[in-house]
Amino acid sequence: MAIAKAAGDLNPHKYTGLFAVQDLVFEPLFKYGHEGNIEPGLATEWSVEEGGKLLNVTLREGVTFHDGTPFDATALKWNLERWIGMEANNWMNSSRLFAGLDIVDARHVRIRFREPVLGLLQEFTYVRPVRFLSPRSVAEDGSYRQPVGTGPWRQVSATNEASVFERYEEYWGEKPAFPKLEVRVLPDSRGRMAALRAGDIDLIGGAFASPITATEAQTLSAAGVHVVIDPGTTLDLIRMVGISDPSARLRQYPHELSGGLRQRVMIAIAVAAEPKLLIADEPTTALDVTVQAQILKLLKEIQAKLEMAMVLTTHDMGVVASAADRVVVMYAGRNVETGPVEKVLVSPRHPYTMGLIDAIPSRSDPIGSPFRGLPGMPPVLSAPIPGCAFEPRCPHAVPACRTQRPELERTADAAIFAACPVLNTSCKERIG
Ligand code: SF4
Repeated sequence: MAIAKAAGDLNPHKYTGLFAVQDLVFEPLFKYGHEGNIEPGLATEWSVEEGGKLLNVTLREGVTFHDGTPFDATALKWNLERWIGMEANNWMNSSRLFAGLDIVDARHVRIRFREPVLGLLQEFTYVRPVRFLSPRSVAEDGSYRQPVGTGPWRQVSATNEASVFERYEEYWGEKPAFPKLEVRVLPDSRGRMAALRAGDIDLIGGAFASPITATEAQTLSAAGVHVVIDPGTTLDLIRMVGISDPSARLRQYPHELSGGLRQRVMIAIAVAAEPKLLIADEPTTALDVTVQAQILKLLKEIQAKLEMAMVLTTHDMGVVASAADRVVVMYAGRNVETGPVEKVLVSPRHPYTMGLIDAIPSRSDPIGSPFRGLPGMPPVLSAPIPGCAFEPRCPHAVPACRTQRPELERTADAAIFAACPVLNTSCKERIG
């Protein structure tokens, strides 16, 4: 889990800790539940009498703090006397009007008020200061030492960078599914989003519950980042890939869409989960050149927007030149040359790459000149290939090429690696 700022002091009687983190460790008597209903928490039964001046509470049986101390009427009284009636908490009606607390027995308490308290039960659902702390978690002089509550998580460590919690195995309620939880502080909202996409974290929160705060949203918008306050829908995805009239398109069958539109829908599906890596296998095959350029432009825009990596598989050197930063040339399932696109395409180091580039028709070719293809056929992959797979078609082959498999090695241009020591004599190892 990533949050915007350090969890702060979790002392439930102070006001500095993050609500979301306090909630992991401490619990209230009552919970503010669905549709505003008051639900059981550490109290299982209650009744308000005398027109709102008396609150009878029955405590849940068998609850213990993380240090093993029972949560009973004595612990409840010790906690309530630390906040009810305290001047520092007098913004709460219950504090201002508190008259006294009587222990009936270990599980029953009567809390009295001078006047009826407006919203009495809601006040007991607040995160602070009324979440309950183990009496043993304060020093002899009464100073607070560590956060020891009754909640599902027990704090193991806390710094300004991260807080670590482990599952409280004796928890009275439904235990968390995971044994450990790390709350990491990532102050930058884009950093939190990137970590979420990368799968490094599972949940993000800003200062409170939302992924980013309103101020962060304004700052990001001012910096030119498009901030959408919307959980995201299919329509948003369809809009993102540049399909006009998305509502109408969503009601159409695939055969009613053009090839370009179908390709855009495919891209929308592929990026719906905001992947860290998108593998696009022949994304522009069967598209005319105009649509092909549009799809490549769209892919690059989405890549930048979602900050994802992209692998394009293609036979089209034009696509490689216009869309890629690095290229890996494969032959018979082997990487035969790799490097920056602008270098590999301009000065290839492997005969297969040379042949591919040479096969591209040129405007300077005389009309009627023959097509320059590679001679021969690709190898049969069902049989082992002991040497260089390109050897039967290679104009530079030497006898050793047939028996010794060339490794991919750095060439004279340090940015390019090639699997052909015959042409790249600076390679560490040579064959023949
Ligand atoms: S290793 Fe030999 S056969 Fe393979 S590409 Fe180089 S020269 Fe040609």
